[in-house]
Amino acid sequence: MRPGLKPPVILKLGGSVVTFKDRVETPNLQAIRRLSLEIAEAKPRSLLLVHGGGSFGHPHAQAYGLTGGFKGGSLQLSGVSRTREAMLRLNSLIVENLNLAGVPALGLQTSALAATRSGRISSLDLKPILGVLRLGGVPVLFGDVVMDFEDGFSILSGDRLSTELALRLRSRLLILGVDVDGVFTGDPKTDSEAKLVERLRVRGKAFKTFLAGVKSSKTVDVTGGMRHKVLEVARFASKGGRVLVVNALKPGVVAEALRGRKVRGTILTA
Ligand code: ADP
Repeated sequence: MRPGLKPPVILKLGGSVVTFKDRVETPNLQAIRRLSLEIAEAKPRSLLLVHGGGSFGHPHAQAYGLTGGFKGGSLQLSGVSRTREAMLRLNSLIVENLNLAGVPALGLQTSALAATRSGRISSLDLKPILGVLRLGGVPVLFGDVVMDFEDGFSILSGDRLSTELALRLRSRLLILGVDVDGVFTGDPKTDSEAKLVERLRVRGKAFKTFLAGVKSSKTVDVTGGMRHKVLEVARFASKGGRVLVVNALKPGVVAEALRGRKVRGTILTA
């Protein structure tokens, strides 16, 4: 981070929020419009947005067998291209709606800025992102298929990307907007006994015990569901960052979280 530039709040909107996961390439326009207005009203001083792929990313990635990287042949590369094109369509739609709501959003293609090695981010060009932030704009990145120095290419999840950005930009707050009220003791969609965990400390034994009990998402998701999410963001929380997991499908929740007010959800800290 440059001196004088306020570290941004990072808001990651899940694929379960901005799309309907069970219908191929179907955006949740109502949620996108409402969230755009909420962001415009909350007016955070510095904000960076990351969104997931949902039904724009995962079905293509699955159909072309993109998990595990390049196995040879041009068909897989067509799959990479199709996934990227679909993600760009979703990104354009989100950026367009943010601007219509009065948020100065600028889309940035993740695969043009980031590369991985065995799935881990090994290069990330912050300059274009910082350039947008310096002008008071809101960079909007997304989970994407990126080049990988070991595996040819890899799927970089929005969760991994937002965690890395939070660390590298020295953010203090990362908000994960999902379609449930936070992290539960089990999947709240299938387990009626599941209880909301209001506070998770990512260091220590209790966290390991908790993780052992958390299952992955059942819906089509090549990047792994809530368990993957919690494991990713723990890297930021363990270094002193604050992570809030909230329900972005409930009107007003993201706006309140951006204003720094207490909302129903899970707080992860060191
Ligand atoms: P997104 O694509 O929006 O980033 P995911 O679908 O990958 O989010 O993960 C969120 C989903 O994880 C929820 O819809 C929920 O059904 C599921 N899930 C599984 N286990 C849990 C848990 N312990 N707590 C909360 N949600 C869980």
